[in-house]
Amino acid sequence: MTKLVSKWNYPTTVRFGAGRISELADALKVAGIERPLFVTDPGLAKLPVVPKTLKLLDDAKVKYGVFSDVKPNPVESNLTAGIAVYNKGKHDGVIAFGGGSALDLGKLIAFQAGQSRPVWDFEDIGDWYTRADASKIAPIVAVPTTAGTGSEVGRAGVLTHEASHTKKVIFHPKMMPAIVIADPELTVGMPPFITAGTGMDALAHCLEAYCAPGYHPMADGIALEGMRLAFENLPKAFANGKDLTARAHMMSAAAMGATAFQKGLGAIHSLSHPIGALYDTHHGMTNAVFMPYVLAFNRNAVEDRIARAAAYLGIKGGFDGFAKAVLKLRKELKVPHTLGGLIKDFNPDRKRKALIADMAIVDPTAGGNPVKLTKKAAATLLDQAIAG
Ligand code: NAD
Repeated sequence: MTKLVSKWNYPTTVRFGAGRISELADALKVAGIERPLFVTDPGLAKLPVVPKTLKLLDDAKVKYGVFSDVKPNPVESNLTAGIAVYNKGKHDGVIAFGGGSALDLGKLIAFQAGQSRPVWDFEDIGDWYTRADASKIAPIVAVPTTAGTGSEVGRAGVLTHEASHTKKVIFHPKMMPAIVIADPELTVGMPPFITAGTGMDALAHCLEAYCAPGYHPMADGIALEGMRLAFENLPKAFANGKDLTARAHMMSAAAMGATAFQKGLGAIHSLSHPIGALYDTHHGMTNAVFMPYVLAFNRNAVEDRIARAAAYLGIKGGFDGFAKAVLKLRKELKVPHTLGGLIKDFNPDRKRKALIADMAIVDPTAGGNPVKLTKKAAATLLDQAIAG
């Protein structure tokens, strides 16, 4: 039986609603930031949404710098370059503006700029975060422009360790942004592929958190409603990117997923992380490919739970109905059914497959899977995601 003992952490102030980006200068004031570094990614920097936002800062006479050298799946050299710009500009806080990549890198700059130890010393392992000098962590205002990772309400940043091709989670409680501006209008420009991938990421967070073992009824409740919002609104946002109501609900689902996954994630993420690190695929889209295979693998452990979720979601047929709804949603969103549909010329040999399985079972998310993820199981799931 699950022990009724747990630890619950809740997010931060979220200013939610269309148009609320206009409050950016005020949010900076409340967060105590006078000279922010605006961190975004190069793709976004070219879109009108960035100059429009910077104009708000100009109008409010805020002195800011801009850093946009952020790869999707950011790497240490992005962090080093960002910290150099941060220190040179004598900044006192960060505006993290973008999808998970820019949000994570912005948070990591605010965290790491004042530390003397290498960033890898703060990986999310045991109490490693206590090695950090918490007094040197700068405040963050986070502004998501995708609706998926929920990094805006999270206490961690994901950074790819290039030498070992692994994605590492860097954690500190003070990496939680002081204020979030969640303005769904900012997500309207997302192309359908990114809308689908990020939305499926939000769904994967809710689903895996809901299925993770452990006592966390608050996370379970949040995950359940997050799943409902994603099932109902992701197809609408995908079909019509300008549907602001669907965009708003997806933005909520993203923040809810990240709030819920403090309970744990599972094998969808354990397999998706090595694929993302080795092949630079989109994180959420990779999760979406693995989702039905992992769901079937976990069936015995989660059948009743998923049947309860299906009832809440209005899906008939219990576990089987839910599994079918996942497949239908993926099809509607044009998610590839196999890894070959996601990665060009994907044909890993035995050695490569063994490496992916090895990486999956040591991924920090593997422990949250309701069925133990052995190397054999990881290899089978990989084969299934290759064969379809
Ligand atoms: P992303 O940040 O990599 O962005 C993907 C693409 O979408 C980029 O080209 C970007 O320019 C573009 N884009 C972003 N917003 C847009 C907009 N409004 N209009 C048009 N284009 C837009 O994608 P993501 O899925 O948001 O983030 C993925 C990253 O987040 C990965 O590195 C992943 O590891 C990380 N992640 C972090 C957490 C966490 O808890 N910190 C959780 C899950 C994933």
